[in-house]
Amino acid sequence: MNGIGTAPSPEELRDGLRSDTLLGVRNLKMHFPIKAGVLQRVVGHVKAVDDVSFDVKKGETIGIVGESGCGKSTMGRSIIRLYEPTAGEIFYNGTDIAKLPERELRPLIRRKIQMVFQDPNASLNPRKSLGSALSEPLRSHGLYGNKQERQGHIEELLDLVGLHPSVINNYPHEFSGGQRQRIGIARALVLDPELVIADEAVSALDVSVQAQIINLLEDLQEKLGLTYIFISHDLSVVRHIADRVGVMYLGNLVELSDKESLYEEPLHPYTQALLSAIPVIKKDGAQQRERIVLKGDLPSPSSPPQGCVFHTRCPYKMPMCETVVPEFREAAPGRQVACHLYGEPPF
Ligand code: SF4
Repeated sequence: MNGIGTAPSPEELRDGLRSDTLLGVRNLKMHFPIKAGVLQRVVGHVKAVDDVSFDVKKGETIGIVGESGCGKSTMGRSIIRLYEPTAGEIFYNGTDIAKLPERELRPLIRRKIQMVFQDPNASLNPRKSLGSALSEPLRSHGLYGNKQERQGHIEELLDLVGLHPSVINNYPHEFSGGQRQRIGIARALVLDPELVIADEAVSALDVSVQAQIINLLEDLQEKLGLTYIFISHDLSVVRHIADRVGVMYLGNLVELSDKESLYEEPLHPYTQALLSAIPVIKKDGAQQRERIVLKGDLPSPSSPPQGCVFHTRCPYKMPMCETVVPEFREAAPGRQVACHLYGEPPF
């Protein structure tokens, strides 16, 4: 994001958050050093996430889409502090958690924000029964004091995610892919979180199982009042579950909009190209948008283009796009876009 004038202080940013904002991300950067030579000198940086700002309201689902390598997963992991952000603020319920030390982070965030990963096996120990794996975080956070209480909570949770409580003593290899993802969701919910970041949570599943898991996530949201950040490369899946959708390109958020407007009338040329690849059903029958094939390769995040990061592939490029970074600004009520085609707000 490219502001004009003095950058606001973290306090001003926090004060500017709306009362219904659960998560406020401001100018988040996650740059990974590139080291080379015997001395492992830093010779550059991979700018995986570069100056991203957005808000997530309590109870909503925000979808984050973009091609593989655009930085969406890194952004999710930075929010939950699996990576230490290079710069920026992450306000959770008004507290900036971006730089909090682990001992303060743990009671505040490690319980309240959880992740569901693409591969549930990665977070399941094959030698541990389901009950043992799910009670571990409860014990380490000192929740549900005794064994009986923990077992009761876990059985309730298994029922909630569509598994029979009797499977509590089973081992990971005894479950199908869809069941394992239900376990992954149960694991994310075991500490009673408020915000769940689902990172490609249904991408490895068959289409019919994908639909079941999406329905499950929607049911759980309603029952438990959860807020979701749903990260996916699949625009059709995001369309089902999200209330608002953010589009990432080369570490930048280039468009953020309510779902209906974004899928009906995408503003950013990159969003237009992404959506042109999926079929559109209109009232008068099936129709396909005109396919926009982007020229050139995705630039490297270690040397992103100057000016607008999309200018090397944009069909509407203007001379200023090569040098001036477009501000991520409101182009219509509730719609933000980073593109020089959209000047001052038309309202
Ligand atoms: Fe294309 Fe320029 Fe808009 Fe970037 S700022 S998307 S290059 S028109």
